[in-house]
Amino acid sequence: MSISSKDIIVEKVKTSKIDQIDFENLAFGSVFTDHMLICTYKNGAWETPKITPYQPITLDPSSKIFHYGQSIFEGMKAYKDKNNDVFLFRPLENHKRFNISAERMCIPQIPEDYFMEGLIALLNLEKDFIPTQEGSSLYIRPFMFASGNGFHASPADEYKFIIAFAPSGAYFSGKVKVLIEEKYSRSANGGVGYAKAGGNYAGQFYPTQLAVAKGYNQVIWTDDTNHEFIEEAGAMNIFVRINDTLLTGPTSDRILDGITRKSILEIAKDLGIKTEVRKITVKEVVDAAKDGSLKEMFGAGTAAVISPISGFGFRDTDYDLPELENSYGLLLKKTITDIQYNKSEDKYGWRVKVNA
Ligand SMILES: *Cc1c(COP(=O)(O)O)cnc(C)c1O
Repeated sequence: MSISSKDIIVEKVKTSKIDQIDFENLAFGSVFTDHMLICTYKNGAWETPKITPYQPITLDPSSKIFHYGQSIFEGMKAYKDKNNDVFLFRPLENHKRFNISAERMCIPQIPEDYFMEGLIALLNLEKDFIPTQEGSSLYIRPFMFASGNGFHASPADEYKFIIAFAPSGAYFSGKVKVLIEEKYSRSANGGVGYAKAGGNYAGQFYPTQLAVAKGYNQVIWTDDTNHEFIEEAGAMNIFVRINDTLLTGPTSDRILDGITRKSILEIAKDLGIKTEVRKITVKEVVDAAKDGSLKEMFGAGTAAVISPISGFGFRDTDYDLPELENSYGLLLKKTITDIQYNKSEDKYGWRVKVNA
């Protein structure tokens, strides 16, 4: 079955809560819009999606999400330009990755029209919630989980696909000091690190808390075999600039294929920045920090776009990064956000206008 937005059942709220939102002081991902999209998978098929008031979900205590963690998500944003036109950024990439995550967790595939038509119908209803303050956007959270019942350790027979929106301010986290992790791993060969599966993030909290207790903000994940290679920064892809070369690791079972990461790689090449996609050793980063050739490190992901790293710790020694005038991170962030907010031409065809 294929659907269009007019097939979607819509139940509207009686009174909007938009007046209760302080758009001048938005945090990240903590207030929500009036409605959500919900769709149930039952008897081997997706039912017609519904837009309902944003509300709690009731589940049986034996729902498999609680016991076996079949749960995946995506993170996207909608942007408004100065003419109040609404845009998405490479949304089909999110849909594709959602289904890659779903396959790994034995969750049924969501068809492209359910994902895109559902998202656009909800966006058209909620477009007044898209903030226009500098750096703000509407954070979009599509997710899917096992709502089927039973204590048997096997895939559920029922699932829910939901999209919820959070008007959000800039994901500013100040100076980020990171710790290169050598004991715990985020992901492993043959594991689920490439999927946006809920449990991946639960597993990161404890090692991150230990790093925070030592005075760091985040963990730099290394490979699970020998902790020899730099892999990701918290829940972001990582970039390292040594002299004038911008490096990032190749995606794999263990490294999530970030849309920000691959957009940055293309933009950097077009800006004439030398890029290399290859394994980065902890040793070369530490050596470069010692001899001064390490210029920048930053995390890359939808929420923060680019999150500059001010220094890192490795085996009881802290290394500070220099403050640069011609930072690649700042230049790349401006270039990508100018495309997202329709402030510059998009020669890549990444910006998608949502018809309102
Ligand atoms: C979501 C995520 C990223 C960034 O992906 P984007 O598509 O750029 O938002 C990177 N690493 C991990 C582990 C992630 O979960």
